Amino acid sequence: MNSADVLALKALLSTPQKIAIIPHKNPDGDAIGAALGLHHYLIKNGHTSVVISPNDYPEFLKWMPGTRNVMIFEKQNAQAKEFIASSTLIFTVDFNDLGRIGQMKEVLEETDTTFVMVDHHQSPANYASVMYSDTSMSSTCEMIFHMIKALGGVNDINSEIADCLYAGILTDTGSFKYAATTSETHRVVAALIDKGARSSEIHREIFDTNTPSRLHLLGCALNNLVILPEYSTAYITLSQEELDKHNFKKGDTEGFVNYGLTLAGIRMAVIFIENRDEGIVKISFRSEGDFSVNEFARSYFEGGGHTNAAGGKSTRSMEETVTYFRSLLEQHKSELNA
Ligand code: 5GP
Ligand code: MN
Repeated sequence: MNSADVLALKALLSTPQKIAIIPHKNPDGDAIGAALGLHHYLIKNGHTSVVISPNDYPEFLKWMPGTRNVMIFEKQNAQAKEFIASSTLIFTVDFNDLGRIGQMKEVLEETDTTFVMVDHHQSPANYASVMYSDTSMSSTCEMIFHMIKALGGVNDINSEIADCLYAGILTDTGSFKYAATTSETHRVVAALIDKGARSSEIHREIFDTNTPSRLHLLGCALNNLVILPEYSTAYITLSQEELDKHNFKKGDTEGFVNYGLTLAGIRMAVIFIENRDEGIVKISFRSEGDFSVNEFARSYFEGGGHTNAAGGKSTRSMEETVTYFRSLLEQHKSELNA
């Protein structure tokens, strides 16, 4: 965090504030971990703070300290709007464009409250007075740690904050394996363990709480896997019917896309998931090496993300979406096989 931003943030937090902390829609471990980790830190420093998530999040994240007090905008609409309208400061975490929060976008655009952005995605939009944006960071949770340190608050980090930040770093680094995991990331993780993060319990909460129907859904997804060796690409489809058959719950498909990348020689893996309620096919992209799925998702599927992990959507049917996707591969053949 640069020193001008640290000074600006210190000034903003020098008197008690009423703060809304907002993660992106369909929040993952990093978004909820960063929001709740920051929430506990702000409360400890005499501020009023509420985490307001655009929509609900998966059960495997609901062990996090403070999860019970998270407001869900879709469900507690009036209450959330009232809090935002009377807030004196808004932190947006793990996204950098108000288009990533669904219906909440209009509400945030109406306020004249000061915004602070903490995020590690590419191409930040220009809505925040303090913009802590760093695409080299493993996770927003790692950034929250650096931010607290820059504010002189390392001694405030208790086991609750440490648990939340550890969980976000763990999930966003694919258990410390993705390229953005640096020695500094490991130093932050070590510090969090020293502050009381329950590392092995957190791994269990996140990865070892499967339901039988989720494992059967994974079986269905793997059965649907299509491998296109000529494009070093593999993709999975899951129709609404298949999701219904396996009693789909939010978060059940988390991580499925990564299986394609475990195949030798595969550089891009994709999963297409039908969402009848929203009338879209939600798409997740992953890549290994230089092929930028961020650019691919941005160019063709109204999405974005990082070089090696991105998402997007399509309003066409599943069949048309997959046909369109396959038609795009020929023009990227050389990059995919580089
Ligand atoms: P996931 O595939 O796990 O949902 O998301 C992977 C990455 O892409 C995350 O960093 C996420 O924030 C980003 N992402 C997912 N969906 C979208 C989208 O629709 N638009 C944009 N801009 N980014 C997305
Ligand atoms: Mn993240």
